Amino acid sequence: METDSVFPQPAGSEAGRASEGNGRKGSMDGDDRSGNPYAGLVTHLRASWLSRKTWPREYRMAQLEALGRFLDEKKQEILEATAADMGKPPFEVELSELLLCKNELHETLNNLPHWMKDEQVDRPLATRLDSAFIRKEPYGVVLIIAPWNYPIYLFMGPLIGAIAAGNCVIIKPSEVSKNTERLVAEALPCYLDQDCFAVVTGGVQETTRLLENKFDYIFYTGSPRVGQIVMTAAAKHLTPVTLELGGKNPCYVSDTCDVPNVARRVAWGRFFNAGQTCIAPDYLLCTLEMQEKLLPALREAITEFYGPNPQESPDFGRIVGDRQFQRVQRLLCSGRVAIGGQTNEAERYIAPTVLVEVQPSDPVMQEEIFGPILPIIVVANMDEAIDFINSRERPLAIYAFSSNDKVVNQVLERTSSGGFCGNDTLMHVTLTSLPFGGIGNSGLGMYHGKFTFDTFSHRRGCLKRGMGRETLNAPRYPPYSQKKFGIVRATSKVTRKDDCILL
Ligand code: NAD
Repeated sequence: METDSVFPQPAGSEAGRASEGNGRKGSMDGDDRSGNPYAGLVTHLRASWLSRKTWPREYRMAQLEALGRFLDEKKQEILEATAADMGKPPFEVELSELLLCKNELHETLNNLPHWMKDEQVDRPLATRLDSAFIRKEPYGVVLIIAPWNYPIYLFMGPLIGAIAAGNCVIIKPSEVSKNTERLVAEALPCYLDQDCFAVVTGGVQETTRLLENKFDYIFYTGSPRVGQIVMTAAAKHLTPVTLELGGKNPCYVSDTCDVPNVARRVAWGRFFNAGQTCIAPDYLLCTLEMQEKLLPALREAITEFYGPNPQESPDFGRIVGDRQFQRVQRLLCSGRVAIGGQTNEAERYIAPTVLVEVQPSDPVMQEEIFGPILPIIVVANMDEAIDFINSRERPLAIYAFSSNDKVVNQVLERTSSGGFCGNDTLMHVTLTSLPFGGIGNSGLGMYHGKFTFDTFSHRRGCLKRGMGRETLNAPRYPPYSQKKFGIVRATSKVTRKDDCILL
């Protein structure tokens, strides 16, 4: 196996020696007897972390500023790499890769001094004279494994929080978006402190070996199937994880709504990035009457967005690889094609497609579509739609459209999902103030904005007491007595608000 880590080898340092030979070629040396090609890299980063180099606020801010320069200076290369990987339209790159990253970066830089501060907490009488606080500490060496569909944003978002929290980080981009992977591996280390941050490239074999190492936190974004593999590997070392996974996101459209607006908002969310979005509306649930109104509106929205032939549109992307193309193409056999359906294997093009007469047992309803196909499932009413949603795995996002706010609220209140957006699609992901993450099959943990900083921070509960006033401690020491316990209880207990007594 050829391992390929973009890895610094500083001469002379203790950490450098420990990692020598475990970088690009994965050969072993005397310092590493584990036989794992990445052990030296992890040891090197851990030594850097133990040296506390990443802890000062100024250091974190400087690394974050460097990430901003990477985004600015490599913008053209990012546009070219993502275009080569999956024909990403420049507008979509600017919005979903660059602007969202910059927003996360600015939110973090604006607030980091405040986020890092100790949080003072309440104390009962027994500790009233002491200092009790939560200290936010970095976990240590963090592994970030990213997918290919937003190949910059989905490693950069967690990386910003991991750096902000003071960790050392190994980034493992997806091997599927190979042009972006190469760009990240070659360019990013030039911006970051190579003693503390590294990019490891490769696919299943390399990631499997990488995961054998002990990390202090693993942040994984990808499919639920691989999420299980990552969690199993983490469990061996009792390493905490965040799992940002996928699934099928339902979109309910009620009978009372502005049909052209719904069609545009749904079509945008479904066909953005050629449907390769974890929070894309995966299927529509509506009545037969609404389906008949939606079909012409969806056709009109698709033509408005991409012209009469979306294959010629510069604003419509391509499927990332041949294997993925064949998988998505196979799903077209479900139900009946009402709009689109054209494919071109050489270009990995699949037209924006709407399927009708789809049964819940059809292939398109058995897996996350992750392509530009929108099936419509007919239901009798909202109750049936909610039952349909609740009988399946809990999704990453649920969407509900209605001019009646009560209907949107009903869907929100009677279902469970990672996130929710009423009367639009995807937009909730753009708010750095909202936590983003799944539940159940769609993931574990959350991030964005301060939530990312919190994810990568260990909240250390601290109590600092004075050396004197020993008489105050006397009641808790043996020999025990009922009287002593009475004092301990009175000074330590948390009283219910209703039976509060004046002290
Ligand atoms: P994937 O799970 O195949 O790959 C993701 C990463 O895991 C890659 O870096 C890959 O190299 C690595 N990997 C793959 N197989 C592995 C294995 N056996 N052992 C160890 N590592 C392995 O996912 P993908 O195809 O890149 O992305 C698509 C999936 O990701 C979809 O399910 C999508 O919904 C989900 N996703 C979720 C989010 C989110 O924020 N929740 C965002 C984007 C994508």
